[in-house]
Amino acid sequence: MGKITHCYKTDLCEKSLLNLIQLKFSKIVCTIGPSSSDESTLKRMIKAGMDVTRLNFSHGTHQSHEEVFKRIRNIDSRITIAFDISGPKIRLGKLEKRYVLERDQQVILTTDDVVGTKDLLPVNYPSLIKEIEQDSFIYINDGFVKLKVIQKENNNLICQVIDGGNISSRKGVNVPDANLSMRVPTEKDIADIKKACELGADYLFISFVRSAKDLDKVREIIGKCSERNIGLVSKIEHKDAVENIKEIVTVSDGIMVARGDLGVEVGAAKVPVLQKKIIRLAVNMAKPVIVATQMLESMTKEPIPTRAEASDVAHAVFDGADALMLSGETATGKHPVTVVKTMAEIIQEAENNLSFNSSFVSESNLPKGGEIGQAAVRLGQKLDVDALVAITQTGYSARMISRNRVPLPVYAVTPDESTMRKTNLLWAVKSLHYKHDGDFDQLISSSIRKLYTEKFIQLNSDVIVVAGSVVGLPGRINTIQVLNVKETIES
Ligand code: ATP
Ligand code: MG
Ligand code: MG
Repeated sequence: MGKITHCYKTDLCEKSLLNLIQLKFSKIVCTIGPSSSDESTLKRMIKAGMDVTRLNFSHGTHQSHEEVFKRIRNIDSRITIAFDISGPKIRLGKLEKRYVLERDQQVILTTDDVVGTKDLLPVNYPSLIKEIEQDSFIYINDGFVKLKVIQKENNNLICQVIDGGNISSRKGVNVPDANLSMRVPTEKDIADIKKACELGADYLFISFVRSAKDLDKVREIIGKCSERNIGLVSKIEHKDAVENIKEIVTVSDGIMVARGDLGVEVGAAKVPVLQKKIIRLAVNMAKPVIVATQMLESMTKEPIPTRAEASDVAHAVFDGADALMLSGETATGKHPVTVVKTMAEIIQEAENNLSFNSSFVSESNLPKGGEIGQAAVRLGQKLDVDALVAITQTGYSARMISRNRVPLPVYAVTPDESTMRKTNLLWAVKSLHYKHDGDFDQLISSSIRKLYTEKFIQLNSDVIVVAGSVVGLPGRINTIQVLNVKETIES
């Protein structure tokens, strides 16, 4: 890894926010909220290592999200923007203020449209009363608060508090014992997806996916409102998704191990092993995978992480995740910039001690492209090249290279701006938007020249280039070339 330039806190970062530097292989996704949506904070977060921003439609308004979306695009058009689609997640409605629920107190959950108080909490799912049984458990705020249903009465559930804790407006509510009938996309989701299409989102993170069919419905809506190929990341947070994981990974453009709701739905003890299994499967199928929730939770309030959190971040890197996500830490936390810096530092330290063995991706039965990608990185390692280059229209070649988890920077050169931003989520990939109308050979040499002039690679570098030899035929790779930058530019 010695050849990779790091540039934290140096003026290189100042001059150009992203170029010449391979900051880290694992990427950082940040949820943007009240603590992080102003221009200065966003800029500092980018500098600290943020690669992807996440705007959650469960919170905020279309107008507030539009403002933040445009602000991010204006600051740096290379930053990826994902919208989180709420799905059939039950949430508390608006509460008068924050409350602490005490053990053994009674509280009423109501489907009536009221502003909540300490004893009466509105929920946004009208059929909840019908679909839940007496004696079931209800969890609030990623499971911190636990209630038991004592009695059902008209539009109300009378509950006893089993585990007390903090609650506030729009916190999530889980009922793992009930088989809820509502599926993604809900009416709200449809309106949110249309808004995301209108703005030009790069990814949609889809909550509570339960089967591959759920994504078909989402794609149908996107098909009607956008010509772009918006990436769909399935959040794995429901028992059914765990059962159907293979078919879901197959039809998704990415996967998120959404540990908050997953931990409530299947029990926290199962999350670490599921994390490893889901990452391994996604990597093998060349789909980017994000690990999310509570990664540096204590930094929502404190300026330093707990040792357990530092270890969790490092282990997600060792597990092979493409990206790690921050939620409340950056959305509402006190230290949105420090937490990104901290995460980047832990990632780098872990990456200096990476040891993926070759069996990590050996189970693949990907078609030809997977084999070519693997051959290219093996050749690159053998010849000790400085970087891998993927000339790519859809990002396919970049995925076939990245999935091998070989610690070399992967530069994705693409004529498509949205592919540039989408490939940003991939492990070790740094992308460059570049359009060239010449034939195949000219495309290769001019791409190398561009990478050099944009300071991604140096004159004395050797690189491996993979590409599809038929220009304009997307989603293929069939050539591997070994090139010296100086020779290629001068020829
Ligand atoms: P999900 O299950 O989709 O992760 P969540 O409620 O856990 O939903 P996060 O996106 O993880 O939401 O964010 C964590 C917390 O940060 C939220 O519960 C909310 O209190 C706050 N938050 C996030 N985005 C916003 C926003 N745009 N405006 C206000 N608060 C926000
Ligand atoms: Mg969730
Ligand atoms: Mg969350």
